[in-house]
Parts: sequence; C-alpha cells; structure tokens
Amino acid sequence: MQIRKTFKPAMVLMLALLLTNGCASRAAQDETSSAASGNKLPDAALDLPDKSVNTTTDNSDNANSNAALGSKPDEQSSPPTAKPAVSAPKKLYKMNKVYSFVPIHKGETSENVVLLTFDDGPKEDEMISSLLDTLDKHKAKAVFFVNGYRVKRHPELLKKIADRGQTIGNHSWDHIDLKKEKGAVVKKQIGDVQEIVKKVTGKEPVFFRPPFGSGNDSVKSIVRGYDMLYMTWSDGSLDWDKSTKDKPDKVIANVLEQLHPGVNILMHELPWTTKALDTLLTKLESKGYGFIDPATIDPAPLPNAQNAK
Ligand SMILES: [Zn+2]
Repeated sequence: MQIRKTFKPAMVLMLALLLTNGCASRAAQDETSSAASGNKLPDAALDLPDKSVNTTTDNSDNANSNAALGSKPDEQSSPPTAKPAVSAPKKLYKMNKVYSFVPIHKGETSENVVLLTFDDGPKEDEMISSLLDTLDKHKAKAVFFVNGYRVKRHPELLKKIADRGQTIGNHSWDHIDLKKEKGAVVKKQIGDVQEIVKKVTGKEPVFFRPPFGSGNDSVKSIVRGYDMLYMTWSDGSLDWDKSTKDKPDKVIANVLEQLHPGVNILMHELPWTTKALDTLLTKLESKGYGFIDPATIDPAPLPNAQNAK
C-alpha cells in the first residue's frame, strides 16, 4: 500500500475547517426552526390571563416584555430567533399621496392590485390562523399592523404571522392618539414596537400606520426617523364601526364600494372580517385584482425619492 507524499497536513486542516463550518451553520438553522415552531394552547381564549405577563396595567414596561420573551433587556443585536437572510424581492410599487399604490415603472407590473392590511393584533390564535390560511389559499400577502402591548402578551402569534411569510407593520405600543402626545412619548410608542418586533421576528417593521389614522408632521417625521413608510389607508372596510359589527357581508360590500386600482384596504383582526375574507378575496380576484406583496413596496418616503433606489 502506498501513501501519497503530496497529502499535506495543510490540506487535512482545510478539510477539517470546511466540515466544521458546515456543521455549525446547520446547527444554527436547526435552532432557528425549532424556536420557530411556536407552542400555544389550542383555542386560546381572548380573555384568559396570560401567564407570561404580569397583570399590572402598565403596557409600556419593556423590561417585562423582554423577560416574557426570554432574552436580556440589553440584548439588541443578533436576536436568537433571527432567520437566515433571504434576498429581498424587487421593489415594484410605490405609495402615492392618498396612500394607494402604483407601479414604480408603468407597465412593469399590474396596476390592478390591492394592499390588504389587518390592524390591532395580534389578538388570538384562532383568528390569526384563519386569516393566514385564507391568505395562503389565495396566495395573498398582507401587512399586519400590530400594537406592542399585544405583541408582549402573545409574541408567539407575531412569530407565527412572520413565519408564514406575512409582513409586520408598526401600529404603536398602546394604540393611543399620537397627535395628542409629546415627541418623546411618540418616539417611545413607536421605538418600543420596533424593538419588540425585531426581538421576536428578527426584523424591524418598515411600515407604520398611526392609530385612528391620526398623525401630524411631527409624528410623520419621527416615523421617518425610524426609516418607516407612514400610511393610513384609502379603502376603509368600516369593520371597526358599529354598523358592520357581526356582518361579514357588510365588510365585503364596504370594501368593494371604494375599490379602485392600488387601494390600501384597512381591515382589523375581528371575527366578522375573518369570516368575510375568503369571499372578499374571491370577489376581488373575479374583478381582476391581484394582491400586492408588501415586500415589493418601496418604503422610501414620498414622493420623488421613490425611483432613486
Ligand atoms: Zn388601530
């Protein structure tokens, strides 16, 4: 038996290094996917006290939210649940002045599209799961504009939405009227949501919607400081209004009444909207509308910078 003299120790070392790196990255992925599996009680009722959160009324206590998520308060970089970077899709749409969407380059993509959005969650697993299943059935994407105090109660629901490929937006921590607040309060209301969403999903929101659609120049400039696109909506389903409560058909009728290419549809995580969604999406499709993937929206501020990227 012959041993080749050219088999140098350096080559052995290189081989060993290659093998070690391969194993390490696989292990990291495994850790991510097991953390992602989300374990929650079946049929979690809305009003059950949440064991992971203390029951005081202080919603803005970030130290508690960090404890609930199992990470140290000062741990800002490389969140444990971060997914491996996926290449960002090409930006195809920009927002116009009335918060609707148009192709960045005419003719490159369809104008007959809508943006679907769901505000005020995440509340409960049953509704979130149903919304996600219906969106999947129609191969549709949406923005879920979340409140920090709800994320703190149910980080696992936020993770579920993100893991299913949907986009998370910032809707302030406490769902208060930001126009009435001082700058420092507005910053905290917005910044704390950026932080908790990043901790849970590994990614900061790039879209912001003020509660009640209520903002001013100061709020807008703070939002821009966080590199987010500020938007209200251009097609309100009125699902939050008394006139629509428990009436899925009314949700659908309201949306269709205001429908035009590029509309930004405001809905909420509510039982009647959840019930309406499948039929609504079918009707939109039958009218020739597609659904904007929020990841293809350029989040750059209005109006001229949109084409710069
Ligand atoms: Zn809201």
